Parts: sequence; structure tokens; C-alpha cells
Amino acid sequence: MKKSYKIEVDCANCANLMEQAAKKTSGVKDATVSFMALKMTVDFEDGADPKAVMQDVLKACRKVEPDCEINF
Ligand SMILES: [Zn+2]
Repeated sequence: MKKSYKIEVDCANCANLMEQAAKKTSGVKDATVSFMALKMTVDFEDGADPKAVMQDVLKACRKVEPDCEINF
């Protein structure tokens, strides 16, 4: 299951770090971040609860970029 989320991040480098952090989060099959579109697309594992997974994704992203925001 794929979902897209609007994100707030200050530069392409941080967007890339957010993508790496999201990919490593459990429940995430794959993730891509577009800095140009300020969008994160997450492909969830089967049976994963997107809201719960996104809370972990946001936590992981805040470790690499404390000011980032994901609207989910
Ligand atoms: Zn940055």
C-alpha cells in the first residue's frame, strides 16, 4: 500500500536523510522523498498500520533533521 505525504524540510540534503531514515523504519517497504515537490511517498509492508508507522518515520526523521515536518 502506497501513500503520499506533504513534508516540510529546508534542503535537498535533509530530504535525502529523511528518505534514508524512512526506509529503515519497520513497516516501511520503500520510501522516496522529493525535495522539489516537498512530498514523501511511503510503500507500507502488508498489514502495517500507516498512522503508527508514520509516527516512527517522523521520529526517525527528526533525529536527522529536528525541524522537519510530515503531515500525516
Ligand atoms: Zn538541511
